[in-house]
Amino acid sequence: MAKKTAKPRKTARPAAKAVKKYVYAFATGKAEGDRTMKDILGGKGSGLAEMTNAGLPVPPGFTISTAACNRWYDEGRRLPQAIEDEMMAHVRRLEKAAGATFGSTTNPLLVSVRSGAKFSMPGMMDTILNLGLNDLAVEGLKARTKNGRFAYDSYRRFIQMFGSVVLEISKAKFEHEFEAVKHAHGAKVDTDLAEDGLQETVARYKTLVKAETGKPFPQDPLAQLTGARDAVFRSWNNDRAIKYRRMYEIPDHIGTAVNVQKMVFGNTGERSATGVGFTRNPATGAKEFFGEFLVNAQGEDVVAGIRTPRPIVELADVMPKAYRELRAFTSRLEKHYKDIQDFEFTIENDKLYMLQTRSGKRTGYAAVVIATDFVAEKLAKPAEALLMVEPGALSQLLAPMFDPAEWKKVPVATKGLPASPGAASGQVVFTSEQAVVWTGQGKKVLLVRKETAPDDIHGMEVAQGILTATGGMTSHAAVVGRQMGRPSIVGAGALQIDEKGKTFSVAGQTVKEGDWVSFDGLTGEVKLGKVGTTQSEILQVVNGHMKAADSDIYRRFSLLLGWADKVRTLGIRANADQPDQSELAYAFGARGIGLCRTEHMFFGEGRIEKVQRMILADNEQDRRAALAELLPLQRADFYGVLKAMHGEPVTIRTIDPPLHEFLPKREDLMVEIAKLEATGSTSAELAGKKTLLKRVEQLHEFNPMLGHRGVRLGITYPEITEMQARAIFEAACQLAKEGIKTAPEVMIPLVGLVKELKDQKTIVDRVAAEVMKEQKVRIKYLVGTMIEVPRGAVTADEIAQEAQFFSFGTNDLTQMTFGFSRDDIGKFLGEYQERKILDRDPFQSIDTAGVGQLVAMAVEKGRKTRPDIKLGICGEHGGDPSSIHFFHKVGLAYVSCSPYRVPVARLAAAHAALSVKVGD
Ligand code: ADP
Ligand code: MG
Ligand code: MG
Repeated sequence: MAKKTAKPRKTARPAAKAVKKYVYAFATGKAEGDRTMKDILGGKGSGLAEMTNAGLPVPPGFTISTAACNRWYDEGRRLPQAIEDEMMAHVRRLEKAAGATFGSTTNPLLVSVRSGAKFSMPGMMDTILNLGLNDLAVEGLKARTKNGRFAYDSYRRFIQMFGSVVLEISKAKFEHEFEAVKHAHGAKVDTDLAEDGLQETVARYKTLVKAETGKPFPQDPLAQLTGARDAVFRSWNNDRAIKYRRMYEIPDHIGTAVNVQKMVFGNTGERSATGVGFTRNPATGAKEFFGEFLVNAQGEDVVAGIRTPRPIVELADVMPKAYRELRAFTSRLEKHYKDIQDFEFTIENDKLYMLQTRSGKRTGYAAVVIATDFVAEKLAKPAEALLMVEPGALSQLLAPMFDPAEWKKVPVATKGLPASPGAASGQVVFTSEQAVVWTGQGKKVLLVRKETAPDDIHGMEVAQGILTATGGMTSHAAVVGRQMGRPSIVGAGALQIDEKGKTFSVAGQTVKEGDWVSFDGLTGEVKLGKVGTTQSEILQVVNGHMKAADSDIYRRFSLLLGWADKVRTLGIRANADQPDQSELAYAFGARGIGLCRTEHMFFGEGRIEKVQRMILADNEQDRRAALAELLPLQRADFYGVLKAMHGEPVTIRTIDPPLHEFLPKREDLMVEIAKLEATGSTSAELAGKKTLLKRVEQLHEFNPMLGHRGVRLGITYPEITEMQARAIFEAACQLAKEGIKTAPEVMIPLVGLVKELKDQKTIVDRVAAEVMKEQKVRIKYLVGTMIEVPRGAVTADEIAQEAQFFSFGTNDLTQMTFGFSRDDIGKFLGEYQERKILDRDPFQSIDTAGVGQLVAMAVEKGRKTRPDIKLGICGEHGGDPSSIHFFHKVGLAYVSCSPYRVPVARLAAAHAALSVKVGD
């Protein structure tokens, strides 16, 4: 779920030598550690210490620190003698506290050996239970408890765990032996076996160990302990653990602690049990005790699915006293930690023991419910409640959802990059035209493309979801998908798409146009077939299809964001270029548009022909005539966007992409011409196509992203800038006459030289003056630039002489600073991350050390020239929580992101303000 934002590190590892103490005891009401020591004790160890100090019934034990783990690796996989001695002293102390002795034939000490890193990695590393048992001690245990079945059940479990984890014998081999015994005794589940069956299992296990390792099963408890401890250290670097850390960006160097703890037994009979639970429902957030337990069971039995566990509330009937205690303890823990707790417990002969507590992982939905409930229940203050919700988790609340049970039934066909969250299910189409036609017929479609291009906009708009085979997290499909709030998966490389044949194949199956496909944009999972979805309640309210008063989750969502607005200092704007997007952004709390991309408007109904006529014109006069036709259309667009923002600033960017993006592809034209010629046609259509092809060839560029685009277009075709400026100011004047305030900001893209900006600013100012004079209205406006070319950032002091504002275009700035093409980075990013050359995708999360420094430099230089310069950022990073943190620190005035990211940005900005306050 939540990614761990690793702080920049100066040294590779915490200075191990400076730490004198490596082992920390917890026993009977007193622990040497506490909850603040997660770094050194790991999450589990610090939780055990904290619970011990709070007087909860925790079996005694000790924690070997994460620093010891690092020493173990440093010293070539062994511990220095001093630490071995320190551990031995703690073994002796534990024997006293437990009133039992390792290896004793009358009262043997048995322990669990458990891993526990700073960040919980559930099930990633292995736990060993019942350590200390051997052929003599098992008899001692039997004598003391008068329960031979229990003693041998514990021993067979121990040999199996030790055998697989420490001796690395495959689990399946043990399972095979166990199954054979169960079969011979006619037992269905493990509890059906009596003592003799378990003794037989132990004997078979020992034979297996001897055969596999050439040595008998180790009988010395201390040797068992060291072996298990080292296996935990080793498990820090098993494949599962490494993959998990990659996924959640947990640093490799922090190491794991090892907890050695006296065993308590949930497997002594019908008065014993073991279980796990949450203080509240982690899926819905409902205030209900949630969890499962098993009678007469140990450890992982509950989650292993061997027997079916029972809902935890039934424990009230089976063991009422232990249940009452459990509820009381866990409520106390929740209050104490100010967060929902995920706990583990064991009941031995009616006596309850607490074995673990930690913050419970939860869905975005549950996070919002729990945070608002905590404030209502006076368990947390609003500022604390804000920190209980990961900003990114809010987007889950806006996404359409699958019915979880239905979703589970269908197997995963492939996975792509989770570009825009949400559940999508529809009939596959391969062109935007088909998407529009079928949607018109009332069908639900899923647009599947190798990649999308700007002219796919209308298809993307009607599709339930967008699925592409290529591209990264800032590819066209990803950016536009997020802006529209359309569930999207990009870069699903396993898809073999045949766009002409209208099929794709994946996982050995072929999907034709019209077949149903479903995917989850949150996880990137794609499945073949239909799965039902519903629109999120919050969107229904925002779109006016549902009353706010009728939606509990909407009420909580806006309550939480209201608290965020009080705390944050960063302004939040949206990237939007349609009136409906702008209204949505405003409803989500955006106060201003940070980026209105005018070229998206060129692709609207019946416009592209006019744009093409403008491009095809080979003289200024014809070009002006074509532009005159575009003027009223652009004016209407700007009118709508400016109006939707209720007087808040709207940054409108003049034309940016290379012109050939508005023309058909060269190859397509050639095919069409060939076809027409083959029919012997001499029509005007053919002539037209030939002219078009000539122009397309003229406009061809080898490197269009570094080509004739942005301000360079405005300089060579000033009449385009003129038309756009006129459209902006005429719209603003018209609104002024209607009594509606506006604050347009004209932004010139791709500026690297102050003279470029000056050239364009002169045009904008001139047109503004003309329009205002014609209309007899005065409008306040600004002219500024996007800082997205590195030279622009480096010479920001000069550029600020002309620019009244800077908006950092961090997509292009990242592209040009790294020299990584944002459309092609997918080809090697995976390997870069795998090999730790890059930690994350720099197009997703700002590269603070490089690109971020250019931003910081431009901020400083810009302010030096123009102290009141307005500073914001409008790249995709504007919606990324950790980037927002950085922009807050550099002192920008606002971030701008896609409308659907606005709630995320509001909360992230509040987090940034809160963490800077506490000195992060
Ligand atoms: P994980 O990190 O995978 O949850 P744990 O170290 O918490 O692994 O151990 C898993 C389970 O083993 C616990 O939930 C508990 O049921 C059991 N266990 C661990 N230590 C003890 C103990 N001292 N006594 C009884 N059961 C234990
Ligand atoms: Mg656990
Ligand atoms: Mg750009």
